[in-house]
Amino acid sequence: MKFLSTRGQTPALGFSDAVATGLAPDGGLYLPENLPDFSGSLARFEGLSYPELCFEFLRVFATDIPPETLRALVARSYTRFTDPAIAPLKPLGKNLYVLELFHGPTLAFKDFALQLLGNLYTHQCEVRRQTISVLGATSGDTGAAAIHGLLGRPGTTIFILYPDGRVSPLQERQMTCTGADNVFAIAVDGTFDDAQSALKEIFGDQEFRQRLRLSAVNSINLARVLAQCVYYLYAWLKLPASERGNVEFVVPTGNFGNVLAGWMLQKMGVPIRGFRVATNQNDILYRLFTTGEYRMGDVHPSLAPSMDIQVASNFERFIYFAVGRDPAKVREVMATFKRTGRYAFPNFDRDTFTASRTTDAEIRSIIQRVHRDFGYVADPHTACGFKELSPDRVSIVLSTASPAKFPDTIRDAIGIEPTHPSLEALKTRPIVKHRLKTDPAAIREFIEQHAVKG
Ligand SMILES: *Cc1c(COP(=O)(O)O)cnc(C)c1O
Repeated sequence: MKFLSTRGQTPALGFSDAVATGLAPDGGLYLPENLPDFSGSLARFEGLSYPELCFEFLRVFATDIPPETLRALVARSYTRFTDPAIAPLKPLGKNLYVLELFHGPTLAFKDFALQLLGNLYTHQCEVRRQTISVLGATSGDTGAAAIHGLLGRPGTTIFILYPDGRVSPLQERQMTCTGADNVFAIAVDGTFDDAQSALKEIFGDQEFRQRLRLSAVNSINLARVLAQCVYYLYAWLKLPASERGNVEFVVPTGNFGNVLAGWMLQKMGVPIRGFRVATNQNDILYRLFTTGEYRMGDVHPSLAPSMDIQVASNFERFIYFAVGRDPAKVREVMATFKRTGRYAFPNFDRDTFTASRTTDAEIRSIIQRVHRDFGYVADPHTACGFKELSPDRVSIVLSTASPAKFPDTIRDAIGIEPTHPSLEALKTRPIVKHRLKTDPAAIREFIEQHAVKG
């Protein structure tokens, strides 16, 4: 299968090259040339284990990797999850389930994609007999998950920039207490946005980028979106047949990455009734799905920090479909948005998507209510999913992080401080971080010095 850029000005690539490239050279995002139709395969998927289902799904896309290699690589990606179901679907009440996506090594849903991405990168190093360097910026969860995807992998070096003092102490420990010598957690002296723009500049240096075989780890990688489709399919298959036609997935989201994956799966013939886009107070997506206008706002730090974003970087993939797969139109929409900070969609699929937004005060009261009504402790991101539920649908709320990652917020809400053995273990290990100025030249030099080469 080939993958095209949403902006249509760069050649189509095979799966492995599209994954290695990340952002397309024309500034677009990669998408499958044609979406496969799984509606005839659903019976065949019944009862498969998570890794087997993931393999059966991905083999349709990753046609340039031999099937047995892909199967092994996928199996390895889910060995570090502590729940035997990998993504357990738990009934909470009438017409209500929670899909727990936090049983991976960093206790957030990003492990689903980044464990796989780590194995894909490692596989490429082996096939091409080349080293690679991976660079990303994070406000917390992505960096930790990316690091744990590549930890100790031969031939790879990973550099993660994060704003010093602005990620949670536990997130920082997940990045800095690994003990692995191919991991460099770089604490920069600016904000996440400063780190992000330094990173853009570094990736703009083509000579440097090619010489170090630098890959980006961010939420727009094709492999991430495809890996995330799988848990929607897995959850759907776990439902009783009578509920499958009426299910609404409720997705706490900021970058539109998670919900996009579910929506693409629906377009591939899995009969999902709809999606609820659950934002925190940073509500660009809520406003979009209620008014049809996509308009940039300021970011206000919230109790659900992994959803504190200003522009939803995966949204361009949705736009591509919304404008009838016309790359020229995508370029026009993106140019208008860049110039004016807004874009109004003339007609819009309001049937599939509903939206909610949740303030910090509501996050606290929802954590209390969910605990009282169901005896369930929801993390602050997951709490946004419980804001409003459609009474006439079966709701599956995606739980994107373990409450143990946000002990302060949970304690404030319900007086219980959740813990997790893997986080407790980190507290005894030394923090190894590298402090740098948010200066592209200094960061480039650091990478040059520390990247494993060959
Ligand atoms: C990253 C993250 C999100 C948001 O994911 P999107 O890709 O923006 O949909 C939600 N919750 C947690 C815990 C996260 O780490």
